[in-house]
Parts: sequence; C-alpha cells; structure tokens
Amino acid sequence: MKFRQPTSDQALGRLIAGNKRFANGLLSVDSIASGERRKQLAREGQNPFAIVLTCSDSRVPAEIVFDAGLGDLFVVRVAGNIVAPSLIASIEFAALTFGAPVCVVMGHSGCGAIKGAVSGVMRQQGSLTSNLDILLKEIEPAALGALASISGSARTKDLTDSVDEIVNKAIELNVLHSIEQLRLASPHLCELSEAGSFKIVGAVYDISAGTVDFMLPDIS
Ligand SMILES: [Zn+2]
Repeated sequence: MKFRQPTSDQALGRLIAGNKRFANGLLSVDSIASGERRKQLAREGQNPFAIVLTCSDSRVPAEIVFDAGLGDLFVVRVAGNIVAPSLIASIEFAALTFGAPVCVVMGHSGCGAIKGAVSGVMRQQGSLTSNLDILLKEIEPAALGALASISGSARTKDLTDSVDEIVNKAIELNVLHSIEQLRLASPHLCELSEAGSFKIVGAVYDISAGTVDFMLPDIS
C-alpha cells in the first residue's frame, strides 16, 4: 500500500466532523466531485479512508451524510444493513486491499426493513416476497430482542402502542447484531482489529435531524 491511511480514530474523527457539517447544512469543497479529482482517482486508484455498511434507504446516502468526496468512502448498502457472505466479502476487500482503518455499521431511524421484521415477529406473518423473507430473517433476532426488552419493561401496556419504541430498539440491536456477525464470520477483520489497525463501530443515523449517533462511549 503506497498510500498512508489515517488511524481508526482519525478516520472516525473525519466522519464525525463531516456529519457535523452535513447536519448544519454545510458542505466542504472536498465533497464536490470535480472532474480533476475524478481523473486523479481513475489514474491513481482509490484509497477510501472508511467503510460504511448501511441501509439502501434513499434517505441514507453515506457520502452525503458524512460530507465526503469521491474516493473517500467504500459503501456497502443493503436493506436493513444486514450481514451476509457477499457483504462481508465486500468489507474484507476494502479493509485488506485499501487498508481502510474503520468500518461503520450504520442503521437509521424509520428503517422500513426493521419495521417489516418487527411487524413480522409481532403478527407472525410473512412479507411481500420469499426473497424479502430471507432478508428479514436476518433482522429477526434484533426484532425479537427488542420485543422482549420492551414487553418485559411495560407488561401492562398494549404492545401495539409501543411499536415505535420496539422499532427504535430493534434498529440499535440490529446494528450490534450485524457487528457480531461480521466478527464471527471474518477472521481477517478480527485479525486486523487485534493488530490495532481496524475498528468496527456501530452508529444510528437520524433521518430527520441529519445526525449520526456513534455507539462508542469514548467518541464524542
Ligand atoms: Zn432502512
């Protein structure tokens, strides 16, 4: 690798600063896709400083949310930001080939995939297609966990009144579940983490406020 990547914390710092600009309605010059930058990247190759696994939802475009430019982010998008072999492979590729020092697994408020999974476990019903059922199955552990945590803490309440609360909890649990799946399924990513050159970090994006809430106590 000719290019020197930032440390995991420096990369996170860049993401946090970029999201602050975005949430405040600002835009950095670097995020404007100039023809010159495009040609440079084609000529010299890419060196994305961060990997983002997030949802396909049209309201969650990672480059815009982090005010990032061409060649900055290696983005893997799938409904419900789930983890499956081809998605793990994409993340491994970016971590091993470009040395991207951080992977952010980012869920978001109002996620349709999570709502679908929660509704599936509450009503015991299938979704629109059998392929969608397979995807929602990946989110089921988070939906069940959220249902258990909310119904356990509010037994007297009718659960249909708590759907939003259950969905919000499931969004968070699903991010943690995806991180766990990534770690379990990829010894390569674990090795990089143990060597201190790679971090997997959870986050939830608020589609209304524009802010990304990172799940790390030491990250402000
Ligand atoms: Zn979503």
